[in-house]
Amino acid sequence: RKEQLQLLASVDAVTKDGYHLRLAGNISSVKDLEQVMKYGAHGVGLFRTEFLYMDRPTFPTEEEQYDVYRQIVEKAGGYPVVIRTLDIGGDKQLEYFALPEEENPVLGYRGIRISLDSNELFKTQLTALLRASAHGHVKILFPMISSLEEFRGAKRILEEAKLDLAVRGLPFRSDIEAGIMIEVPAAAAIADLLAKEADFFSIGTNDLVQYVLAVDRMNEKIAHMYHPFHPAVLRLLRQTVSAAKDEGIPVSVCGELAGDERALPIWFHLGVDSLSMSPQALLRVKHRVLNSTLKEGQEEGKLCFRLTTSEEIERELSGFLGKDP
Ligand code: PEP
Ligand code: MG
Repeated sequence: RKEQLQLLASVDAVTKDGYHLRLAGNISSVKDLEQVMKYGAHGVGLFRTEFLYMDRPTFPTEEEQYDVYRQIVEKAGGYPVVIRTLDIGGDKQLEYFALPEEENPVLGYRGIRISLDSNELFKTQLTALLRASAHGHVKILFPMISSLEEFRGAKRILEEAKLDLAVRGLPFRSDIEAGIMIEVPAAAAIADLLAKEADFFSIGTNDLVQYVLAVDRMNEKIAHMYHPFHPAVLRLLRQTVSAAKDEGIPVSVCGELAGDERALPIWFHLGVDSLSMSPQALLRVKHRVLNSTLKEGQEEGKLCFRLTTSEEIERELSGFLGKDP
C-alpha cells in the first residue's frame, strides 16, 4: 500500500473530471522540504520558521536566516515557498527571549503581536526573507493577524526592510506577495476587509478551530470537543473563501484539516485553490483527489452546509469517504 502510494509522487492531484487541486507541503526544516519534494508537492504552503530560532543560545542573524531560506527556495524547484514569520509565544518558547508569565498564553503575547513589538527582530527576519526572494518564488505569511492595523503595521516594516536593502544594493523582489494567516476568528469575520489589502490568504484551521470553539487544542480533557467540522467553523471557512474570491486573491488551507481526506468535499464546494499539509499526508490526499470527481465532491460539500451539527457532518463525510466516522 505504501509502495503503491509512492507511485503517485510524480502525478498531479487531478480529479476524474479534470479539476487540478494544488497540493503543497508544510515544513519546519530543510529536511522536511526534501520529503515534500519526494512526494511530488507543488512547493511549500507553510514554512514554520520557529525551528530556526529554537535550540540555540541567541537569535539567528540575518545571514544565518538568509542561508536557510535560500536553500529551501532553491530546492523547491521553482514552486512557490510560503514563509511564515516567527510565531512564538503560546506553547512555543525561546530560551534566550524571556516572555512574561501569562495566565492564558494562547490568548497572550504571541505571533505577530511580538513581531510588531520587536521591530529590529522582525525586520531582520523580513530582510533575510526578501534576500531569499531573489533566488525563487517566495511569499511572506503573517501569523495571528486579528485586525487591519496589524497587517498594515507588518507591511510597513516590510517596506522599511526593502528600503534598507535597496540602500545596501542587495537584490530582492520588490513585488513580493504578503499574505495573512486566517486563524483568529476576528480575521475570518473581517475577511472582506483584509482581502482588499492582502495578496493571499492561508487558513490555519488548527488555531481557528481552537479559538472559535474556545477549545484548547492541547488539552486532552476536552479533545473530544475539538470539532473541525463544527458548523461554526464551516461558516467561517465559507466566509473567508468567498471574501478571497470576491477580491480575486488565492486562498489556501494549511491547518491539519487540509490533510484530512474527509474535508475534500468542503474544499471543492467552497473553491479553495490549494491545500498545504504535512509530508506524510500528501500521497493519501492525492490518492483521494485522483479518485474523486469535482462535481460529486461539490454536491457533497454543499450538503454538509445544510447539516446542523458536527456529528452529522462528520458522519456524512466519513460515509462519503467510505469509512466509519
Ligand atoms: C494553524 O494554526 O492552523 C497553523 C497551521 O499554524 P500552527 O499549527 O503552526 O499554529
Ligand atoms: Mg496557528
